[in-house]
Amino acid sequence: MVCRIAIVGLGKIARDQHLPAIAATPGVELAAIVSPGALLPATPCFETLAQAFASGVPIDAVALCTPPQIRRSLAAAALADGKHVLLEKPPGATVAEIEPLIAAAGAARLTLFATWHSRYAEAVQPARALLAHRAIHAARIDWREDVRVWHPGQTWIFEPGGLGVFDPGINALSILTAILPRPVYVTAATLDFPANRDAPIAAAIDLQDTAGLPIRAEFDFLQIGPQTWTITVDTDRGPLVLSDGGQRLSDAGKTLVDAGNHEYRGLYARFAELVASGQSDVDLAPLRLVADAFMLGRRRTVALFDD
Ligand code: NAP
Repeated sequence: MVCRIAIVGLGKIARDQHLPAIAATPGVELAAIVSPGALLPATPCFETLAQAFASGVPIDAVALCTPPQIRRSLAAAALADGKHVLLEKPPGATVAEIEPLIAAAGAARLTLFATWHSRYAEAVQPARALLAHRAIHAARIDWREDVRVWHPGQTWIFEPGGLGVFDPGINALSILTAILPRPVYVTAATLDFPANRDAPIAAAIDLQDTAGLPIRAEFDFLQIGPQTWTITVDTDRGPLVLSDGGQRLSDAGKTLVDAGNHEYRGLYARFAELVASGQSDVDLAPLRLVADAFMLGRRRTVALFDD
């Protein structure tokens, strides 16, 4: 049976990725849009979730693509109305707010899917498979992008709960936690807050895994020129390098994967599978690492940021 989905929050990611991925994925179809002031031709559009649910338009699931600060209340309302829920990343503004959603989905036998789109990048599973059979000496994340290019006008990113540079940075952590063989945790962090903002514009985190593997992660939102979304893992057989956010993989200098971006098709195929099999998929590891960086991090005040 096809899963009829209402997209909630018709912003950048919904238009760039969710709409085309739903159109291209068997087992799911677009039923409605819920987004204040947004219109999409030939699709029922509503200002609020309550209006959509009261309209009589058949909706089986919602894909919550709003800023994270309001995601929990929308998810709770959708589950209470008997809808399956797909959460864009990060799954919420806090870690603890997700637990009642997991319980509500379980009690109602509905699917709750906390998505990590970067885990569906083509190089991630091959990297995980290679690392399972290697000695790993160190790992490094370099995630540097220009916030003015990628997030123009998105003021919510620098508000409390918007995560600042961790909005893209959590994607790196979602890949890291998917490819390394053991759990990782934060040991130290430095967070740079612009004097006029409530979220960091740059950050550095030291982590290690349960066997003591040293991991360094550096995130920067003010990168001009070439943009970098790279994870390098030093192994006994040379460096394994995931670049372009997980779309490319090189092993000791030899290219193994060089793919386009099909992440969201994989993500919606997984959602259709979860709904059909009556399962949920909620991994909070990347969100916990960011929360721990906020908890443990030394804060520095840096120059004002104006976009
Ligand atoms: P965005 O462009 O600001 O879009 C958010 C949308 O949500 C806007 O259309 C906004 O409408 C709408 N909205 C706000 N409150 C709402 C409500 N109560 N009900 C329904 N809609 C509401 O942000 P985005 O870049 O798409 O990011 C959204 C989420 O996707 C974030 O969690 C982000 O981390 C994630 N994500 C973004 C990217 C990316 O490249 N941009 C990639 C992957 C994941 P108004 O504009 O009218 O306020």
